[in-house]
Amino acid sequence: MNIILLGPPGAGKGTQASRLVESRGMIQLSTGDMLRAAKTSGTEMGKIVSEVMDRGELVTDEIVIGLIREQLEGDKKGGFIFDGFPRTLAQADALAELLAEVGEKLDAVIEMQVDDEVLVHRIVNRAKEAVAAGGTARADDNEDSLRIRLMEYYKKTSPLIGYYHAKGDLSSIDGLASMDEVEASIVKVLG
Ligand code: ADP
Repeated sequence: MNIILLGPPGAGKGTQASRLVESRGMIQLSTGDMLRAAKTSGTEMGKIVSEVMDRGELVTDEIVIGLIREQLEGDKKGGFIFDGFPRTLAQADALAELLAEVGEKLDAVIEMQVDDEVLVHRIVNRAKEAVAAGGTARADDNEDSLRIRLMEYYKKTSPLIGYYHAKGDLSSIDGLASMDEVEASIVKVLG
């Protein structure tokens, strides 16, 4: 089973993806995590994406599609969870093609609905907690970048909701419920 977790920054996609990895042996493919790894590894690509990410803008379709392509070969275990990908219509089309190339298809797109006030609150808290725990906050977990990330979401990613709805793949769930309740809603969609 291959699914997309769709939702704005701070909706809880990463948290729920980790739970599905534990409970169902699925493979989490987070383009955000892959890009952050590229950033710290000091590769040429890391340098290119670093400033764009820190500002809160989207990196190019070409780069993220390339990252996903690399991951789709090999053992598929309990299936893929796409977390933070696709984020544009071009990425959505590319994903359909890449899955077809490896003999797979998309089974569900789960939209996690959360309102903006809560997102800002969650992300500001996530940054504070990281610092309190002796670590560092993500470079893009500040109010300026967050505003841009939200704008990018509404401009470029939210059209995917209509797109997947029209394809009959979309299920929308309440991302404001507790983590356990959100997990239960996702499990219900997965059947
Ligand atoms: P969040 O959902 O909290 O914004 P992510 O970890 O998914 O965080 O993404 C962090 C940043 O990485 C994004 O703001 C963007 O710059 C880049 N990024 C991640 N995934 C994509 C993607 N699919 N397309 C373009 N840029 C991406």
